[in-house]
Amino acid sequence: MLTAIVYRLYPSPSQQRGLNTTLETCRHWYNRCLAERKDTYEQEAHTVGKYAQLRQVKTYKATNPSAGPVHSHVLQTVVSDLDKAFQAFFRRVNAGEAPGYPCFKGRHRFKSFGFKEYGNGFKVDGRRLKVSGIGRLAVRWHRHVPGQMKTLRLTRKAGKWYAVCTCEVAPEPMPPTGLGVGIDVGLSSLLTTSDGEHVAHPAWYRTAQHRVRVAQRGVARRKKGGANRRKAVVVLQRKHARIANQRRDFLYKLSHRLLTRYDHIAVEDLHIRNMVQNHHLSKSILDAGWGLFAAHLARKAANAGREVVFINPAYTSKTCHRCGQIVGHLPLSQRVFRCACGHVADRDENAACNILRLGQSRWERT
Ligand SMILES: [Zn+2]
Repeated sequence: MLTAIVYRLYPSPSQQRGLNTTLETCRHWYNRCLAERKDTYEQEAHTVGKYAQLRQVKTYKATNPSAGPVHSHVLQTVVSDLDKAFQAFFRRVNAGEAPGYPCFKGRHRFKSFGFKEYGNGFKVDGRRLKVSGIGRLAVRWHRHVPGQMKTLRLTRKAGKWYAVCTCEVAPEPMPPTGLGVGIDVGLSSLLTTSDGEHVAHPAWYRTAQHRVRVAQRGVARRKKGGANRRKAVVVLQRKHARIANQRRDFLYKLSHRLLTRYDHIAVEDLHIRNMVQNHHLSKSILDAGWGLFAAHLARKAANAGREVVFINPAYTSKTCHRCGQIVGHLPLSQRVFRCACGHVADRDENAACNILRLGQSRWERT
């Protein structure tokens, strides 16, 4: 399995200039490739592919003084990034959605560049990371690199630089526990398990959101294009980054706890649920975090020899877990589930039990 680890970088002022210049060169190259694709399609009605553009890297380097010193893998990665943007665009068009055409990138809209092979453009040199064209960067190695480093991406985020390293790691199966669980995502609790455990919405979330709103006003009050606005934007970006960090930390720890305890986990497929558009769920931590959580849970489960199944949540909260009867009307404010058969349970627990039952029928088949 490939895993990505993010390390904080501490570039010197001259290295920072180098990083920013490389980023600018990549941005120009990106926009140029995008323009080429767009123009040839509009004027000659044929598409320029990824490989045709990869072949141009050499000439671009030779003819463009700012691109000359940049490692060719960096410019090739830019071409791949653009190609990915197009693939995502066409995938969404084919799926009948209304995606935006890949954009030209403004100065503050281009954030990273990458290398694709360890030892070719970057390598670990003692305690530092040696990067072609930049120098030996100081890194905070907050944890060991868990396997062979494959690729590297240098990213600028809220005024700071990070190295994203992808590594090949071996699976680490967890000892089996023989337990399965169903999980309901909800309004009064973030998660409720079929074992009756409630995980509350973290208290910091609303405070953090308030701070974001304050910083947002700081940006709105400043003149467009001004230096002070630029500074206020960085402050805002830091607040957003902090929320994202806290959310990630919280959800990763939660998924680790679940995977340690259970062999099989059944969760709602919230893609389906989002189509139902439940307004009451907005502002919950899962608004932006669910995709992250589900993907992380599934990925870690695969590496740990656990199973995660996604369940269509239709009727899971309205069905009686004991007799299978569907109750007619159940407003969200009603927190206790009562059935004619006499079954009384916490609303979310009842739903979690239904999700577990649907999950069981899936994993017992395999
Ligand atoms: Zn019942």
